[in-house]
Amino acid sequence: MKSRRVFLQKASLSALAISIPSIATLSAKNNLAESILKEDKVLRVAIMGLGSYGTRVAEAMLDSKRAKLVGVISGTPSKVETWKAKYGIPAENCYNYENFDEIKNNPSIDAVYVITPNALHKEQSIRVAKAGKHVICEKPMAINAKDGQEMVDACKAAGVKLLIGYRMHFEANTLEAIRMRKSGELGELKFFQGLSGFVIGDPTQWRLDPALSGGGAMMDIGIYSINGARYMLGEEPIWVTAQETKTDPVKFKEGIDETIQFQMGFPSGAVASCLSTYAMNGLDKFFLNGSKGWVEMQPSTGYGPIKGKTNKGPLELPHVTHQTVQMDQMAAIIFDGKVPEVPVNGEEGVRDMKIIDAIFKAVKTGKKVMLS
Ligand code: NDP
Repeated sequence: MKSRRVFLQKASLSALAISIPSIATLSAKNNLAESILKEDKVLRVAIMGLGSYGTRVAEAMLDSKRAKLVGVISGTPSKVETWKAKYGIPAENCYNYENFDEIKNNPSIDAVYVITPNALHKEQSIRVAKAGKHVICEKPMAINAKDGQEMVDACKAAGVKLLIGYRMHFEANTLEAIRMRKSGELGELKFFQGLSGFVIGDPTQWRLDPALSGGGAMMDIGIYSINGARYMLGEEPIWVTAQETKTDPVKFKEGIDETIQFQMGFPSGAVASCLSTYAMNGLDKFFLNGSKGWVEMQPSTGYGPIKGKTNKGPLELPHVTHQTVQMDQMAAIIFDGKVPEVPVNGEEGVRDMKIIDAIFKAVKTGKKVMLS
């Protein structure tokens, strides 16, 4: 395939050299050369944080056409050895949390995917940006909107892209639901329901340590209902109200929310009613109701297959591993300037963080919080 591309490229160049082509022919040839180059451009990624989700992303990237795992940043030398052997990662592309700024001198890495505990994302992402590499950062992008905005600003100043790991933004059934909403098939939108939750295990894990997580279920899983409400309704909320319940204050200490019910109001008059919890299993459901139709998805944000039905019938577009599609699409965003149907940039991440900030404020004050 590669030699055929080189042949085509050479053939098109020699054709240019031996004739005087029209402008149309020239531009067709240029387009051909450009598409050949684009097709060849693979995003060379280093994963930071070789934990559970980092492993899932690494496995999924094996099937990506335009993204390749070429490096690691880890605090655990034994994992680095395993990953080197498993994924064929060269020693010179392996870093730890102390020395990864040196990545700036490594021309064989294009982007770093930050997959560490939430509270570390800001500092690590800013260091990656300063090293001149594109940043892909997991959700939640930070632990509040101010930190998220600092990340956006740092990436802008460094001239690198900042993308957030919103894998659902590339999922086929989700995109079909969005298409139905956009086309008007659902009529005037009135109501969204988002349920996001699971029973969290090991009480010693970082997700239950506020210094590393920045919050409990809301940061981890509630964010899916927030983000989902926004992409399913296609609007930004103007107010939130929220109520917290805590049945186990030992496991869910101060700063770690166990269950929060929250509501969001949108400019059109649509409302969202959502639940975020670490205390109930099997909550992964979206429901969108309009004056002419409806969409129900369950599961709605798990690793898939995503299943759903609408007033017109089932939503059953084929499942492709979310992270495989995400990484291919992110390569296209970074290299080709592709604009995705639903944004995955840093600004999109900040929008969710502003809503989380407002939800925490609403819980604390018991009052409706307006979003500017
Ligand atoms: P894990 O605990 O499984 O892995 C986190 C990794 O981060 C660790 O294995 C470790 O890797 C590294 N790390 C660095 N510093 C610390 C520290 N102080 N404490 C613990 N780990 C540290 O977490 P997950 O992989 O489940 O989650 C990581 C991020 O990914 C989170 O932000 C989470 O919200 C997000 N996530 C996103 C999902 C999605 O679907 N988009 C799904 C699951 C998680 P090492 O030993 O290599 O240094």
